[in-house]
Amino acid sequence: MTNSILKYCFLLIALFLMNTNIIRAEKYKIHDLDRPKPNIINVGNFSQNALPPSDAIILFNGNGLDEWKSTKGKNVKWKSTPDYFEAKKGTGSIITKKSFGDVQLHIEWSTPTKIEGESQGRGNSGVFFMAGAGGWGYEIQVLDSYNNPTYADGQAGAIYGQFPPLFNAAMKPGEWQTYDIIFSRPRFDSNKNLIKPGYVTVIHNGVLIQNHKEIVGPTSHKIRAPYVSHEDRLPIQLQDHSNPVRFRNIWVRDLEKE
Ligand code: MG
Repeated sequence: MTNSILKYCFLLIALFLMNTNIIRAEKYKIHDLDRPKPNIINVGNFSQNALPPSDAIILFNGNGLDEWKSTKGKNVKWKSTPDYFEAKKGTGSIITKKSFGDVQLHIEWSTPTKIEGESQGRGNSGVFFMAGAGGWGYEIQVLDSYNNPTYADGQAGAIYGQFPPLFNAAMKPGEWQTYDIIFSRPRFDSNKNLIKPGYVTVIHNGVLIQNHKEIVGPTSHKIRAPYVSHEDRLPIQLQDHSNPVRFRNIWVRDLEKE
């Protein structure tokens, strides 16, 4: 009798673990080159130059980088023009001056027309929600994923190191691409325990590539880190990964605004 109860308990625990995203993420080693690559989708123009809704906070519309600062709190040294701004190698990642929790983000990006490097060295940047959370934050990868083989959990639209995009919706280098992202922050209780993980939905050039996907912890290179309790609001970060990736038309809707 006792054995039966124990077996039943073990079965319940196993079923619970099988249903957690951590287990699903760890089905594959981090950056596993054998992980299946998402199918390639040909895309059209979608939400390029999208006009922001009336309640959106404009993070860039060609009027300089006043909404941004370096991760050290200094002025941004990236190149800024009336049409776009561009990551400048070695100057570091940048973060918004404002902090956010749950958001809807629209951002347009373009990887260099001149193809240089390969894999993770080609057109790499990233959109990090809750910059610095758990050491890193939560990155949706930006990468030149047009004819550029790399590990599946590191291509454009991946929850970096955790989940590849459902499809490869990449456009050609130099073309303007769009992300429309809905991010829900993780929740922690007063004892700093995780009570609800983060979730993210990403539409890349009109293609749903992350469908309310559970984020299993902070994102990082070669590390699947557990959640660490953090503030309810933190900046959004764009990554300097040494490649001159361009950004334009960035706006965000604060979904936790009173
Ligand atoms: Mg990146």
